[in-house]
Amino acid sequence: MRRVSEHVYAEIYYWGCNPGFLVTDDGVFMVDTPQQPINAVQWREKMAEHGRPRHLVNTEPHGDHILGNSYFPGVEVIGQRLMLDRYNETIPRMQSEERLETMKQQDPDSVWLLNHPNYPPNPPTRHFDDRLNLTLGKHTIECIHMPGHTPPQTSAYFPQEGVVFTGDNVFHRCKTFLQEANPWEWLASLKAIEALDVSVIVPGHGEPCDKSYLREQAEIVEAWTAAVEKFVQAGMTEEEALAQPRPDVDPYPIGQRLFAAHDRVNTSNVTNLYRQIVARNAK
Ligand SMILES: [Zn+2]
Repeated sequence: MRRVSEHVYAEIYYWGCNPGFLVTDDGVFMVDTPQQPINAVQWREKMAEHGRPRHLVNTEPHGDHILGNSYFPGVEVIGQRLMLDRYNETIPRMQSEERLETMKQQDPDSVWLLNHPNYPPNPPTRHFDDRLNLTLGKHTIECIHMPGHTPPQTSAYFPQEGVVFTGDNVFHRCKTFLQEANPWEWLASLKAIEALDVSVIVPGHGEPCDKSYLREQAEIVEAWTAAVEKFVQAGMTEEEALAQPRPDVDPYPIGQRLFAAHDRVNTSNVTNLYRQIVARNAK
């Protein structure tokens, strides 16, 4: 676990996202949860040393950010309004036999904690559209809708600490996933992150960084978009675009032990961007 400012901690070595928390004198504010049950339970114990968890915000609806919510019953879960439908799609998968089988293969140490089929999903119950400001103890907390990597993408900004958690709008020196991204909204959100008064950015994946990385992150999103735009401009169908060699535009390897997903991510990046570009051109 890394202390990234006076009162903010993050974990960057779990299999999954970078969860974190802010310690206030009126309890703990959590950002995302560890994907693997055994990590979630360890995380809960570490956090208990700092206070009672009061609220939890999910930065996005992908499993690596929400699957651990189950281990924090009673903690108020906050999510941008678009999270809810997505969560409802995810819950049946979280509770499926298939997930149980996957866990037996990928993370057998966690299976006893899965408590299948009574795995409680714990979705967001408090929603917001553009922004939700909270006060906890002496701290102000701003949950800000910053669509890009996913439609409900949310940043958790702690102004007194000079820290923002961006979820996967920032992949710091690891492969960028654009499987459902809107690249133009993503670039605008990177500008909005740039405008925050922060010295520490906790990305969704990778080591904490600062604003100097945002330009590079934008260039990776731009390069992916330009590469797929070339396929569209050449008049290719989606199938023809997918028959091309995958654009080799991301300088970074896939992070957090996800090597097996490398080809699948490249394919879904092309599929998604192709559809986004065609839809935008049709407007
Ligand atoms: Zn993620």
